[in-house]
Amino acid sequence: MYGKKELEMEEQKVKTKQCKKCGKELEISEYYFPKDKGCTDGFRNVCKECKNGKFGISKSQKWTESDISILMENYPYMSNKEIVEKYLPTRTESKIGDYAIKILKLHKDEEYLKYRAWSKEQLDFLIDNYSFTEMSELVNLIGKIKL
Ligand SMILES: [Zn+2]
Repeated sequence: MYGKKELEMEEQKVKTKQCKKCGKELEISEYYFPKDKGCTDGFRNVCKECKNGKFGISKSQKWTESDISILMENYPYMSNKEIVEKYLPTRTESKIGDYAIKILKLHKDEEYLKYRAWSKEQLDFLIDNYSFTEMSELVNLIGKIKL
């Protein structure tokens, strides 16, 4: 019978297995072995180094349903940078763009983003001036404010 302490020790012990190809004893983790649901421990028996030359976490994460709905809802109205920061910190801006455009066929709502991209100075200027300045004149002036 294990005491609590021994159980904790047991959990902390790193599980390893031997790569069938190169014979190295490696930690059983996504870093060293490719994931494989067909294997009992969930990882293939040949290490990543033997398979594709290097260890590391795979960059091509699967897109889950919740990731996809985040993209569907936010991609048109947020920059990819904002989406990474706010919702998908494990992904990159370019991966988000690729997936949204090529797979989900989404596109940015340019008008909306243009409006959102206005700086505080531009908005203040607009608020100060809109009531007594022609619209075309305003557009012209705002274009000249440095961001
Ligand atoms: Zn190997």
